[in-house]
Amino acid sequence: ESTTVAIIGAGPAGLTLANLLRRDGVDCVVLELRSRAYVENRQRAGILDNHAGRIFAESGLADQVLAGAPVETKLEIRYDGEPRFLDVPALAGDRPSHLVPQQLLVRRLIATLPEEVLRFEALDIALHDLDTPVVTYRDMAGVSHELRCTYVAGCDGFHGISRTSIPAGVLTEYTFDHGIGWYTMLADAPAPRYPLMGISPHGFAAQFARGPQASRFYLQYRPGEEDPRSWPDEYAWQQLRLRLGDNSLPSATFTAREIVEMRSYVAEPMTYARLHLVGDAAHIITPMGAKGMNLALSDAATLARAITTVVHDQDESALHAYSDVCLQRTWNYQEFSRWYTEMVHDITADPFRRKLAKARLDRLFTSPPAAAAFADLMAGTLT
Ligand code: FAD
Repeated sequence: ESTTVAIIGAGPAGLTLANLLRRDGVDCVVLELRSRAYVENRQRAGILDNHAGRIFAESGLADQVLAGAPVETKLEIRYDGEPRFLDVPALAGDRPSHLVPQQLLVRRLIATLPEEVLRFEALDIALHDLDTPVVTYRDMAGVSHELRCTYVAGCDGFHGISRTSIPAGVLTEYTFDHGIGWYTMLADAPAPRYPLMGISPHGFAAQFARGPQASRFYLQYRPGEEDPRSWPDEYAWQQLRLRLGDNSLPSATFTAREIVEMRSYVAEPMTYARLHLVGDAAHIITPMGAKGMNLALSDAATLARAITTVVHDQDESALHAYSDVCLQRTWNYQEFSRWYTEMVHDITADPFRRKLAKARLDRLFTSPPAAAAFADLMAGTLT
């Protein structure tokens, strides 16, 4: 079997790439390790920024992807219990982001693709000869397959096989441990009016809506020094009330709990021979700023455009520029995410950094250009 683009991984990056390529008449096959049900139910990100929304709108997929998705409202930041509000979409020049849970986005992107493009439960995927690529895999019945292709798109996330198929010494890898942990919990507690972040001397906390009657909560903890898995639920509720400045929070049952340790990673370059890395396969970012999924979608759009130009116009310049274009955007967001992370967590750092973080926050409420720059990054940059 042969195709133009073999896409490894059916996450947001791989599925967006497949949709954009097919719209432009470029054939592709998506190989995914997991089952369709598993992929369609994996909960992660929740915000499709304005720029990512435009990617779908400009490719004629707005109805399929964005239908019924609520738009972002104001953001509430409570500093030591004192509320402050930022109208982020208005500050960005009326460019709201959409609230689209990742599993819903994935489900919708799968629904727009014909069955024959998607191969779920493709086991032992291996990439060979990346100058004239061949991808091998085994299906659930144990039958081996060989797929010849012109390009491989490595969309298989941080733990996938695409990046590790690149010979040693080619990539420069940058890693950073922010030294911050989040304990996140789901509970049947009424949603806050606006997405709520609390900054208090006890640490950072947040509460985001998950439907009208459910909330996802976050509590900052110190990795290595504290283990929130051993915290009694009542202690977590007490911390949430303290840090969010809300004594009315009920001690509801937590229906899910997770630990997130904030790390950042970038691999350069994102291209090796005819393999192009896309999304989390090349970079991961902290959740502050909500850019992880949006970076994956922007990479996919850049690669789709570049491959389409080669296929239809025999012009390879955009494909040669793919890695540089995506890395510039990635580092821009890594800087933003780190800036944001410090602003809301450094209240627990040394007194000097605590003062800097407060000054950074105050600037958003006293300088309209600073607030507009923040909102511009939240909406997504246009490159
Ligand atoms: P992925 O979504 O990881 O997709 C990769 C796909 O490849 C998966 O379907 C995987 O099963 C498949 N795969 C893996 N290995 C193989 C293999 N060997 N062969 C074939 N297929 C393979 N981002 C935000 O913006 N906001 C958030 O709130 C947020 N929360 C997150 C919470 C968690 C717990 C995690 C892990 C991530 C979170 N992120 C968040 C990040 C966001 O989910 C990712 O940036 C986004 O999923 C990246 O999309 P992707 O398609 O590049 O990779």
